[in-house]
Amino acid sequence: MAKFSLRNKLLKAMRNYLKERGATQFQIQWQTEKNNEPKELPHLQCSFGRSQIYLEVVPTKEEMVHNQPRWKQIYHNQKEKWGIFLTYKKFGQESGKTILEHALKNALGKFSKIQIFTYHRGKISGDFSPIYQEYAMNQLGKLRFQTTTLGKIRVDGGVMFGVVPFTLWSKKVKVDENHTVLLGLNPLVVQEGNTITLADTPGPAQKILDFLQSLELTPADVHYVFLSHLHWDHTYGILNERGKILFPHAKIFLQKKEWEFANNPPPRCQNDFDKDVLNALQNSPQLELLDGSTTLEGSLKATLTGGHTPGHQIAQWQDQANLIFAADLIPTTAHLRLPYISSLDIEPKTSYDAKKQLLENISPQDVIAFFHDVHIPLASIEKESGAIQPFPTSPK
Ligand SMILES: [Zn+2]
Repeated sequence: MAKFSLRNKLLKAMRNYLKERGATQFQIQWQTEKNNEPKELPHLQCSFGRSQIYLEVVPTKEEMVHNQPRWKQIYHNQKEKWGIFLTYKKFGQESGKTILEHALKNALGKFSKIQIFTYHRGKISGDFSPIYQEYAMNQLGKLRFQTTTLGKIRVDGGVMFGVVPFTLWSKKVKVDENHTVLLGLNPLVVQEGNTITLADTPGPAQKILDFLQSLELTPADVHYVFLSHLHWDHTYGILNERGKILFPHAKIFLQKKEWEFANNPPPRCQNDFDKDVLNALQNSPQLELLDGSTTLEGSLKATLTGGHTPGHQIAQWQDQANLIFAADLIPTTAHLRLPYISSLDIEPKTSYDAKKQLLENISPQDVIAFFHDVHIPLASIEKESGAIQPFPTSPK
């Protein structure tokens, strides 16, 4: 589908919607400028293909003019940039989402890859945090997949970037006055054929339930739970409020090395694990311990990377291209550079080698899921330039 016809369709649908509602003063405008530094301020962002649409509803034309420099800043490091900006007198800001949803339904009805990102002011002052609302799974060949940010944590930036000096890493990520950085907790749901796999289970469980529900799934639909490792932030949502495993039928894949390590951790790692999770898994026939890298079900492959923890593993699916759940091997897009390794990693050299190997073998069509990236949970990487292309990729 040519992007311009899509763009025009969308414009038309939005105009009609507004007219139907009796709107008399509105303006829809495309904006394609490039600019330097991003400011995460869009109200609504819709992405499909390699394109992003930003929608903002402001009450007056004056305000639109006033907002333009800021809008320009929204456009950053994306190759194809285009967006809709809307001024609208009659309805308040809250109607922006409704308008966009309606327009998308009409203009892109047949389109399967639609994500609407609703931005709103987060609790941390000055931060604008995304809430993802998924309307369809992403697709890569026959694979269908989706992620969401279930929660956010703040972690010391020095811890996240290890030996990399503050002067370097602080240019790549936003840092607050306490030198902490904001991390997302992004599990990945993958559907291959009729099989549903959930990679990592940050919590709380209720949020996993909500996320699955948004995909019209329940915990009983999950066939496999892939645990990259047993650190609490990757696992605590695996238990329901009664302390039982949330997924009644799922096989739980974990490396044997990880299990042994978590049950007998060195002193510095003793607080890294959730005792309730360990206890529940201990007694569960659902737990399947893997002995190193192996092929699991369908195209799903587990690769033991070690490094972060001795039994850390990543997951990979394949159809046309690879979908890679990188877990804490590459927790955020800022960790794509080889030396950017968390000081939490037990064996940084092992992490370095595993990351190097992964990135050497990556193709621009592959999609990486970044568990801790609060802004770019899914992206493709261009090997030569290192350019980060947020997913979804272009429709064929
Ligand atoms: Zn970890």
